[in-house]
Amino acid sequence: MSITVVGSIAYDTVTTPFGERDRMLGGAAVHFALAASFFEEVRIVGPVGDDFGEDDFDVMRHRGVDVSDVERIAGGRTFFWRGKYGWDLNSRETLDTQLGVFEGFQPKLSDASRESEVLFLANIQPDLQREVRAQLPDARFVALDSMNLWIEAARDSLMKAIRDCDCLILNDSELRQLTGRASIYAAAREVLTWGPRVIVAKQGEYGAALITGEGFFSLPAFPLEQVVDPTGAGDTFAGGFVGYIAAHSHEDISEDLLRQAMAHGTALASFNVEEFGTERIERLSGGDIVARVRQLREFTHFSDAPVPLRD
Ligand code: AMP
Repeated sequence: MSITVVGSIAYDTVTTPFGERDRMLGGAAVHFALAASFFEEVRIVGPVGDDFGEDDFDVMRHRGVDVSDVERIAGGRTFFWRGKYGWDLNSRETLDTQLGVFEGFQPKLSDASRESEVLFLANIQPDLQREVRAQLPDARFVALDSMNLWIEAARDSLMKAIRDCDCLILNDSELRQLTGRASIYAAAREVLTWGPRVIVAKQGEYGAALITGEGFFSLPAFPLEQVVDPTGAGDTFAGGFVGYIAAHSHEDISEDLLRQAMAHGTALASFNVEEFGTERIERLSGGDIVARVRQLREFTHFSDAPVPLRD
């Protein structure tokens, strides 16, 4: 079943201890779409400006992403984000955010995009996420991501958007900020009472946790010798996670399926951070993903070996 995604389509200027890139292709929806395209057909929705290059459209087309609902706004500028990472790649500083064409954007989805059964509301203004959600009332699985900026600047709208989705995917610090609870587990359990039935707490280089009404599951990040640029890791994770669920449309969204989706999200995200922006994912193959999921399973598996314990 195809996936529709709305979110930022961006140019990112990024500095990490390992180098920098100026105005490279980025944006939450782009990172998501490239990752999810390994599992299902993806339709990306959002505006770009006059400055958006045909070669950047080609990056998406090359992965089979349907870009026909990307609207070019004459006289407008593409969303721009500038960020800087220090040695602790888990924390970054946002130096500039320019909404550009996203300001006042009204999404008009094609019939094909409205017919997707899976919807990902990638990080962007919650009003825009809700406008798109309203155009897919019958979607079977709706997941949402957001960030500190929108928790602070548009809390009410974000809360409405969260209530109307099946799955919330958020960084651990944002889950704390959203709920005012220090424990990630308690924060996730609280959000489960608002509407969503699946919560994913992303923890950067420490991995991600899955919290549902039935249980808890956690995976570490895939161990890498060198991380070059973490930008888009969360969205790439979401692309693997949601993509895997979309690829199993005939099955119930069981705890077991969600755990497998977590493994695929973790594997995809680990490739993304090996190089700047979308560089590594552009060259990725299905075989690379299969091999990494297998390795992740070996790294995280242990057998139940009871030992007589002394009380
Ligand atoms: P991630 O590293 O997964 O959190 O996502 C980084 C991506 O999010 C970058 O490619 C940025 O273009 C995009 N981004 C940064 N700030 C915002 C924002 N306020 N709204 C939407 N997208 C953003």
